[in-house]
Amino acid sequence: MAATLCTCCKRKEAFYFRQYSGERLCRKCFAASIEAKVRATITRHHMLRFDDHLAVAVSGGKDSLAILYILAKLRKHRPKTTLTAVTVDEGIKGYRDEALDIATKLCKKLEVPHHIVSFKELYGFSLDEIVAKAREKGQTELTACAYCGVMRRRAINVGARQVKADKVATGHTLDDEAQTVLMNILRGDIARLAKEKPVTSEVHPLFVQKIKPFCEIPEKESALYAYVKKIDFQDTPCPYASEALRNDIRGMLNRMEEKHAGTKFTVARAIEKLRPAIEENLKKEDFKTCKECGEPSALERCKTCEMLHQIR
Ligand code: SF4
Ligand code: ZN
Repeated sequence: MAATLCTCCKRKEAFYFRQYSGERLCRKCFAASIEAKVRATITRHHMLRFDDHLAVAVSGGKDSLAILYILAKLRKHRPKTTLTAVTVDEGIKGYRDEALDIATKLCKKLEVPHHIVSFKELYGFSLDEIVAKAREKGQTELTACAYCGVMRRRAINVGARQVKADKVATGHTLDDEAQTVLMNILRGDIARLAKEKPVTSEVHPLFVQKIKPFCEIPEKESALYAYVKKIDFQDTPCPYASEALRNDIRGMLNRMEEKHAGTKFTVARAIEKLRPAIEENLKKEDFKTCKECGEPSALERCKTCEMLHQIR
């Protein structure tokens, strides 16, 4: 049987069928299409100025390493854009150490400076210690991910400021975006629905603006890109992974995508159209400065300080 040819170059054998567009792509055209999509997303959302110093939040997983790889490539056509990878070491024994190693190796290969911020350094405790302390005190209402989510967001922002970045890019994919939209709807968290967008609003001078250049790339394609480009990444799951609601939504969205190709795009695009109306109806959040740590906070005491108080 004759091999199916790539819809794009019409010369090489196709290795991937893109269900939502009907294209069959060879390795080269597939990788080029991902890079072109990232460039288009950056332009469409005005994510970068020509001379931005961009911090890239790199965890060691496929998405963050793939976006680092693409941004490093993009740098060749934008000589004034500079990059620094920022990795948060939460202090998860046997897990984060491996990811750090992988991230360091790719940064070296791509000649991107690598900055590491650790929970231990910033908060005095590693995540393992925080979880043990919370258990000791009988505090079971918050999961490891609840502590980690709040503190890691803070750590990325601090790390980006430490390297004097103008913006920080994350590896959030289309899947992450669509899952977050549904999670916020199911939790009734309308404010977050408005806040989680491809480019965050500038709400406080100490917040480094976040951009998500991968927000239109399905997770499956980010993994495939890493595979095609032979990017080594960590694929063992975090021992604390427990976001039950997100896991349920992930399963549901994947099943819907199988049956109705393009569902994830539809969810993400629908919220993009709705967001301006939601923002208009929301009271503008007034960001203050936490009276304990001096970081931006919606309340007198920020969530991170609140959590640290509970475990101390
Ligand atoms: Fe942190 Fe939870 Fe992610 Fe592990 S799974 S890195 S604890 S947010
Ligand atoms: Zn604080």
